[in-house]
Amino acid sequence: MHYPPEPFRIKVTEPIRLIPREEREAALKAAGYNLFALKAEDIFIDLLTDSGTGAMSHDQWAALMRGDESYAGARSFHRLKAAVEDIFGFKYFVPTHQGRAAENILAACLVKPGMYVPSNMHFDTTDANVRARRGRPVNLVIDEAADPANPHPFKGNLDIAKLKAFIAQHGRENIPFGMITVTNNAGGGQPVSMENLKAVADAYHEAGIPFFIDAARYAENCYFIQQREPGYRHRSVKDIAREMFALADGMCMSAKKDAIVNIGGLLCVNDETLFQNIKNELILREGFPTYGGLAGRDLDAMAVGLYEGLDETYLAYRIAQTAYLAQRLNDAGIPTIQPAGGHGVYVNAGAVLPHIPQHEFPAQALAVELYREGGIRGVEIGSVMFAHPDPDTGQMVYPKLELLRLAIPRRTYTQSHFDYVVETLANIKSRAAEVRGYKFTYAPELLRHFTARFEPL
Ligand SMILES: *Cc1c(COP(=O)(O)O)cnc(C)c1O
Repeated sequence: MHYPPEPFRIKVTEPIRLIPREEREAALKAAGYNLFALKAEDIFIDLLTDSGTGAMSHDQWAALMRGDESYAGARSFHRLKAAVEDIFGFKYFVPTHQGRAAENILAACLVKPGMYVPSNMHFDTTDANVRARRGRPVNLVIDEAADPANPHPFKGNLDIAKLKAFIAQHGRENIPFGMITVTNNAGGGQPVSMENLKAVADAYHEAGIPFFIDAARYAENCYFIQQREPGYRHRSVKDIAREMFALADGMCMSAKKDAIVNIGGLLCVNDETLFQNIKNELILREGFPTYGGLAGRDLDAMAVGLYEGLDETYLAYRIAQTAYLAQRLNDAGIPTIQPAGGHGVYVNAGAVLPHIPQHEFPAQALAVELYREGGIRGVEIGSVMFAHPDPDTGQMVYPKLELLRLAIPRRTYTQSHFDYVVETLANIKSRAAEVRGYKFTYAPELLRHFTARFEPL
């Protein structure tokens, strides 16, 4: 597997260090075995998330200096507006401080108790924002997504037959809007095809349901369309993105992903009345509509980063970097979701630790072990994050897969870092039978993975 040379060189460095094993053990204990509670300085390689953790370019750092901190109508806002209109093409938009703020505002404007919001798979914050309004998020991804070995090129696709049946069963009046997440983060960073996006848009629109895209990784998704979908090889990623967003009535986006900024988000819509309501909600919770809870300089960094995230040389390097890590892990006998996704490698923790049952959190156990063994932080995407009591029966519903996500921050780590990750996981695999599960000592109701505490069994 070829590791592409980085299409940049390093001008600024940030030291990292591996603390001794006894200190890692003590840090784990103090953190209640929740890796979110560790100090960043105690981590050697941090693959917790690709959200806001990328390296900004010299152009982005230069753009920060141009930031206009006027309260209303800042130049920075208008520079961002030009980029957002050029790339996404929606009629109206507001900046937000991150993706979940956009989701919160959208849910506050549209979701009423008992209503359903379908998607391929909601990410954790989207899921929680719908639930927080007493709505019901529904995941209708194709069945192939639940089979980690299936090499389907667009495993993020939404099952159109399931969607139509769902709409027929629950009725348009109980579905305030429909969504799709590109790429499908919770399902392995898997892309959605343009063919599927068109069919999803048609299904929602035939029923009169507005269609929103969760666009956190839209550029990676569009790059996959260019590479994998017939008829798109000679289209630019930007052009593909325009085609994709033309299908939708709006989008929310965490700019901390494909806009390569440390903080920021976007909410775009075409409907004027909805936009009015969004602005009122934004003013209450985030800030005036021309800054949306961000500094002027953040808006400028976003305006530049949106274009850098679409750069095809960068995207080719990024997607190949992810594929390299996945391939080397597979060569070491560690199964990952196939094919490799865009922003991370999803280790099938359930298969690495088959002796740990779901209610003892196998993916959490593997995440803890990866830190203990090598100072590496990944994130559990399994029962800690997604097991929920069914609102009707109270029965625990477990997710289909127990995954350990190794998210790859943009433009941050190099080949030797990834080789070290592979060696560390290979060491754990060789003594996998010794690894034990965990139980909660504390867990909040929503988004419990962030603050839960555990005890080893
Ligand atoms: C990160 C993410 C969000 C939430 O965005 P934040 O900026 O973290 O609030 C929503 N959806 C998807 C698919 C994401 O990856």
